[in-house]
Amino acid sequence: MKNLRTVALPELQQVFDEWGEPRYRAAQVHDWIWKKYAASIAEMSNLPKPVREKLEANYFIPKVAIHHTQESEDGTVKNRFVLHDNNYIEGVLIPTDTRVTACVSSQVGCSLSCKFCATGYLPRTRNLYFDEIVDEVTLLNEQSLKHYGRKLSNIVFMGMGEPLLNYKEVLKAIEKITTPEGLGMSPRRITVSTAGVAKMIRQLGDDGVRFKLALSLHAPTDVQRSEVMPINDSNNIAALVDALNYFYQKTKGEITLEYILFKDFNDGIKDAEELVKLFRKIPADLINLIEYNPIGQARFQKPDEATTDAFVRYLESKKVNVHLRRSRGKDIDAACGQLANVDSEGAVA
Ligand code: SF4
Repeated sequence: MKNLRTVALPELQQVFDEWGEPRYRAAQVHDWIWKKYAASIAEMSNLPKPVREKLEANYFIPKVAIHHTQESEDGTVKNRFVLHDNNYIEGVLIPTDTRVTACVSSQVGCSLSCKFCATGYLPRTRNLYFDEIVDEVTLLNEQSLKHYGRKLSNIVFMGMGEPLLNYKEVLKAIEKITTPEGLGMSPRRITVSTAGVAKMIRQLGDDGVRFKLALSLHAPTDVQRSEVMPINDSNNIAALVDALNYFYQKTKGEITLEYILFKDFNDGIKDAEELVKLFRKIPADLINLIEYNPIGQARFQKPDEATTDAFVRYLESKKVNVHLRRSRGKDIDAACGQLANVDSEGAVA
């Protein structure tokens, strides 16, 4: 049995040729899958029954479903999705006055083991297929319409997993999300966030992608960064600086640096000085400073307000475009770095 949604239209037309069925039937199936988002072959009511039976004997449609939803006091909505093989992923809706942003997952678990991240304490079970990512986004878009009366305005790949380690499927999903037949979203409203896989950042440049890129930097020196992000041992800051410059040279795409402030670890003025030096070497538009949300497994804490303010003020004094991102959805563990299939009682699914 094959996943019907992974079969491209030309391949499906060939199958219909072999079955002695007219080719336009393949286009009808394609429409059911990608325009009407059919959950089953049985729903494809304009296909003759014998054709549906042949399809059912050879293919299946592995739809993603919402398993559990939690709503935060601040309007953030966290979902646990169940996949066809009973794996779970999480996706979050973050509303503001002008936007609704979906934070989506790209893998079940993660192999990179960042020390501050709840997902990093889960093993990577598998990559998501592109159609599962599209389902995730489609379900979040429907939920956004229902909850806020607005469709999604932005998508960030900052949920569970490292998107650049599931490169092909993530790019294919973005292609579907941005086509007029899909959600028709502009690629400029999509941000892929990476922990820093230099080779794949260069690949994005070679592929001329049009979405935005964010680098989870989180520390200004290799010694500090390797302590919290083991991937830094094989992809150090110098390699990332080179890769980001290459990406920019090829795409002229927008780059953001993400920097979570950890108390007494990377929140001092000395760290801010190092960060500014690094920022000058990267064609980045913005540094997003992120408030840390402590998770049970990690030793890190959030700095106090005065330290955070001093850090922001230092960057501003050096004319760095900086934005302090207050975390959302903390009461439901939906904030940055907290996604780990944890239910309200704290049990990992
Ligand atoms: S921060 Fe991202 S890359 Fe690091 S462990 Fe968490 S999900 Fe994986």
